[in-house]
Amino acid sequence: MEYSGDNELAKTTTTFDVIVVGAGVMGSSAAYHTAKRGEKTLLLEQYDFLHHRGSSHGESRTIRATYPEDYYTPLVLKSHALWQRAESEIGYRVYFKARQLDMGPSDSRTLRAVISTCQKHSIPYRELDGPKLHDEFSGRVQIPENWSAISTEYGGVIKPTKAVCMLQTLAFTNGAVLRDNTEVTEIKRDENGGVLVVTANGEVFKGKKCIVTVGAWTKKLIKAVSGVEIPIQPLETTVCYWRIKEGYKRDYELGSGGEDGGFPTFACFGFPYVYGTPSFEFPGLIKVAVHGGYKCDPDDRPWGPGAVSMEELREWVEARFSGRVDPTGPVKTQLCMYSMTPDEDFVLDFLGGEFGEDVVVGAGFSGHGFKMAPAVGMVLADLALKGVAEGVELDKFRLRRFEGNPKGNVKDFEDQVKHSQ
Ligand SMILES: Cc1cc2nc3c(=O)[nH]c(=O)nc-3n(C[C@H](O)[C@H](O)[C@H](O)COP(=O)(O)OP(=O)(O)OC[C@H]3O[C@@H](n4cnc5c(N)ncnc54)[C@H](O)[C@@H]3O)c2cc1C
Repeated sequence: MEYSGDNELAKTTTTFDVIVVGAGVMGSSAAYHTAKRGEKTLLLEQYDFLHHRGSSHGESRTIRATYPEDYYTPLVLKSHALWQRAESEIGYRVYFKARQLDMGPSDSRTLRAVISTCQKHSIPYRELDGPKLHDEFSGRVQIPENWSAISTEYGGVIKPTKAVCMLQTLAFTNGAVLRDNTEVTEIKRDENGGVLVVTANGEVFKGKKCIVTVGAWTKKLIKAVSGVEIPIQPLETTVCYWRIKEGYKRDYELGSGGEDGGFPTFACFGFPYVYGTPSFEFPGLIKVAVHGGYKCDPDDRPWGPGAVSMEELREWVEARFSGRVDPTGPVKTQLCMYSMTPDEDFVLDFLGGEFGEDVVVGAGFSGHGFKMAPAVGMVLADLALKGVAEGVELDKFRLRRFEGNPKGNVKDFEDQVKHSQ
């Protein structure tokens, strides 16, 4: 058997209400939402479900509401409730709360923008200078004199592979048909309305609507299907785990590091842009990585090494963790794919052209989309089924922002948007 799911239904159903192409977290979430609404849904994946060649596998993703771009915070908050709802439906946890700590030079425009986002969306925050940060975290993390840190309650860790599995299971239990090892090679207009989705093994599925969530393969597939070039650059990125020194392991754990609720998830604005999660998935190790990577073809990858500026990361680990984490080098690494837009904003839009509103694209999640997958799935389902995403402002996510403007959305904090090498 080459696929998972109900083959008979796939064969005998002439028309699906929605065909979702690509079963990473975004496609799995979209399929869950459409199936839950009672729509006949087909989810197609080119490789095995839960494979490690895209963007949605692994052990941890950071949750944070502290975006310099204030239009992400509502998606994060909406997703928080939707993650909880999905967890209660499945009966296990994928979301683990922590505090979030953002840091950088006090005059960083990004940090200032984060503060104004918190104010705009009534996110309680505390701005800490070096000594206050030292007291707050008992010396576990430190910053230079001219830096500040922002502490909020809206942080946490999500388990990505487990979360994708949860969304696929919920899609399935709500009636979706799931097929893996099924590469989509063509999406065509059906002369009787809707679309025809053609696979590499020659099968043709008919859908009233199609949602394309193919991550790093978006540029290739959309170009092949429509001739349109969506500016999404695949990057190979490296996740690094560092060893916490003897005597300090519990200090850097999530949720159990003492009375203060454990070590936070964290981000450090500037070059390099560093992010990480508390010790959780691998006892005694803490994740500290650089946001960025090397340009690559998702079908011809370098598979590492060297996608990280290790010297800068070593210095960061040594300086920020008060010598309590071994800065010699990461003891474990994992590879993953980013799909970067020039402005690092998502693409959530109709493909347009001959497909009009029948094909919806969800792509370009630029290394920060996982936490928002439940809300993104809902938006994609809304666009496909209703033609509008009620209550969500999509202006910043439209394809038209790139028309005659290769950089896309203009940002006042340029340090955030230059992470490809
Ligand atoms: C190392 C790393 C760290 C990250 N950290 C964070 C974080 O801390 N917080 C956060 O919120 N986000 C984070 N992200 C980003 C987040 O993981 C991604 O935004 C998200 O996983 C993107 O999911 P996707 O479904 O768009 O892509 P993918 O997971 O790549 O899914 C696309 C799927 O489409 C399939 N596909 C492609 N072409 C075809 C075809 N022709 N036919 C059928 N199937 C096809 C692919 O095989 C793939 O399974 C991180 C990403 C990485 C790599």
